[in-house]
Amino acid sequence: MISDKMSGLAKNSSVIRAMFEEGKRLAGIYGAENVYDFSLGNPSVEPPIQIKEALLQVINEESPTLVHGYMNNSGYEDVREQIAASINRNFSTSFHSDNIVMTVGAAGGLNVILKTFLNPGDEVVVFAPFFGEYRNYVSNFDGQLVVVSPNTIDFQPNLVEFEKKITQKTKAVIVNTPNNPTGVVYSEKTIQDLADILNKKQKEFGSSIYLISDEPYRELAYDGVEVPYLTKYYDNTIVGYSFSKSLSLPGERIGYLVIPNEVDDFEEVIQAANVANRILGYVNAPSLIQRAVAKCVDAKVEVEIYNRNRELLYNNLVTYGYQCVKPQGAFYLFIKALEEDDKAFANKAKEHNLLIVPGSAFGCPGYCRIAYCVDYNMIERSLPKFEKLAKEYGL
Ligand code: PLP
Repeated sequence: MISDKMSGLAKNSSVIRAMFEEGKRLAGIYGAENVYDFSLGNPSVEPPIQIKEALLQVINEESPTLVHGYMNNSGYEDVREQIAASINRNFSTSFHSDNIVMTVGAAGGLNVILKTFLNPGDEVVVFAPFFGEYRNYVSNFDGQLVVVSPNTIDFQPNLVEFEKKITQKTKAVIVNTPNNPTGVVYSEKTIQDLADILNKKQKEFGSSIYLISDEPYRELAYDGVEVPYLTKYYDNTIVGYSFSKSLSLPGERIGYLVIPNEVDDFEEVIQAANVANRILGYVNAPSLIQRAVAKCVDAKVEVEIYNRNRELLYNNLVTYGYQCVKPQGAFYLFIKALEEDDKAFANKAKEHNLLIVPGSAFGCPGYCRIAYCVDYNMIERSLPKFEKLAKEYGL
């Protein structure tokens, strides 16, 4: 008999994964070229060539006992050094290897840091729309998710409501920019205002409130938009980074946490994060890919490919009458559903073999997410379907 908690979770398993399965089913009936699967955020752009070269170099040139052995739970010292140096070059920070904990992707990093901080009942604030898995990650450690309702004008966080929702029990706040599912990049003013509120509330409650910046899409930003580096604005910031999207390596499960010296109780936090990495069963981030990414810390996928997709899809959808804030990053468009019920709308889209994810999966009903990390040709083929769908709603 499985646990009560898992029984609920297994029943309500991911909507996005379910869509993905549905896509495969429809492809079997109509042919893959006639199904337009925009459901999953699986990178469509190949990893940069440097990754393959680095992997080969690690295998051919480094000692097998080193490459395949156990290591410090926070990862290889020289790998962490390389990563710290790269962050310092890019953001004028001054991190060193002790500030970095290598993790099993962003998901692993978030679980490590939430385990590090949460007592049962502690509150974690998120801004809708948000990556639905946050709900599960917080629940893993018996925390309480507190959701700030969406600001549907421009999808910058609703800071008025945020301030009201911070309590004595608030332990952490998670932000994700560039954002999944909106593609919006939080502006510097937003970050500054958010930091001011957190500083004020820490003083008021005499507590530590940690800001967790979930950044798997940091490198995917368009039109030269600046993505602020959050440790510069608020001392109690932890960055959770991932190479899943920046290097198209989601299956390799590699990322890291940045825990700056300025964070309250730094020594304890670092030590606890290392232990959390171990006892959550990760032990350490995968070794081979750790060594490989260290050799290409400044490489990234061809962002222009996603940009072309973005332009094609966005420009056409707005012409058909869809409403959407133009995304500045990540690879998602978040459109207003053409009827109130986003699930009904996604089902209607499915009748045209268009697979999109209802916004309620992200705590934002009335909208749907379109993941455009797909082939350009598939987007082109899907456009008449989107147009037809809009016409069915009288646009
Ligand atoms: N956070 C956000 C906002 C995401 O969109 C994802 C994956 O799509 C993750 C975390 C998990 O990333 P990873 O594959 O690095 O664990």
